[in-house]
Amino acid sequence: MKVRVAVNGYGTIGKRVAEAVSRQPDMELVGVTKTRPSFEARRAAEKGHPLYVAGDGALAEFAGAGLPIAGTLSDLLAKVDVVVDAAPEKVGRENRSLYDARGIRAIFQGGEKSDVAEASFSALGNYDAGRGKRSLRVVSCNTTGLVRAASVLRSNWGVDHWEATLVRRGADPAESKKGPINGILPTFHLPSHHGPDVQTIYPDLSIATTALVVPTTLMHVHVNHVRLTRAPASAREVLEMFRRTPRFRVFAAWEHVDGTPQVMEYARDRGLGFNDMMENVLWEAGVRLDGRDLYFFQAIHQESIVVPENIDAIRAMFDLARDGPSSVALTDRSLGLGP
Ligand code: NAD
Repeated sequence: MKVRVAVNGYGTIGKRVAEAVSRQPDMELVGVTKTRPSFEARRAAEKGHPLYVAGDGALAEFAGAGLPIAGTLSDLLAKVDVVVDAAPEKVGRENRSLYDARGIRAIFQGGEKSDVAEASFSALGNYDAGRGKRSLRVVSCNTTGLVRAASVLRSNWGVDHWEATLVRRGADPAESKKGPINGILPTFHLPSHHGPDVQTIYPDLSIATTALVVPTTLMHVHVNHVRLTRAPASAREVLEMFRRTPRFRVFAAWEHVDGTPQVMEYARDRGLGFNDMMENVLWEAGVRLDGRDLYFFQAIHQESIVVPENIDAIRAMFDLARDGPSSVALTDRSLGLGP
């Protein structure tokens, strides 16, 4: 029996999650929602994703655009076991009562506060905490990136303390209302909310984060300084552990990936998902070890890193996999990730 999935909110995250769900052997994408006709609604129809109307959307508007509509959100919710809510920040919380009223399970995104769901989730961090839950919140793109890296460092050497500065993209590529931003904007909330968000997955991790917003749409970059508990033998050993872990991509110096433009060019060349980079990106030349002090850069593709995590969250909820690593392996195989 496949788990029947709805995606409510077919934007940047929702359209990617819908596509990923449709590739899973143990899930069925029953439908997606849009509030208005748009090129994305048209693409959903062209891909054969049944389209439903959500929010304050009107069926007549879709009919006027010649887009086939299967019903309203309410009709869709009657047909599924779980809904992935990918509506804009804070709208997920408003939608929660719709899901609760029908007794269906729900997965929320990182734009919602952590108390929107029973637990926050990250596949490499706390897969087991998601098992059997009726609601989960997949943590944000930056938090997912930090938690994935923490899972490697904690299990191999332990972490005494972590300081990270997050250089955040100003907007997503398709967002024309936010930019261009001509400047570097410090986030005057010190430390930033990302550290406490990581602690929703690893409550005992000592981590402090600060953040800046810069005028780019191509990825976030984290500048990390970690005081490990035990010293690794070498930076090479650390790199090897990252390389061996699913959802990491380490670029060698000879690949001449100078920064995020080349990372995203590589992603376009590779053509997975929506030409996405769902892995944490590290540079061989961007890792330095000094005793127990580890310094490293990592880049995070904000539009796609949480996509495989949403799939694993569904699998954890319905206990579809033996364990976290099995779910991660199945997700990654279906999405074309990995060696
Ligand atoms: P988005 O604006 O690109 O997409 C949201 C979609 O939901 C749009 O298609 C919008 O029309 C639709 N929508 C609006 N009101 C709705 C309603 N009442 N019901 C259903 N759908 C509705 O937003 P996004 O970037 O995909 O973000 C979605 C969530 O994912 C947010 O919580 C965000 O914080 C989180 N997130 C975003 C990113 C990112 O970088 N874009 C990364 C990680 C997590």
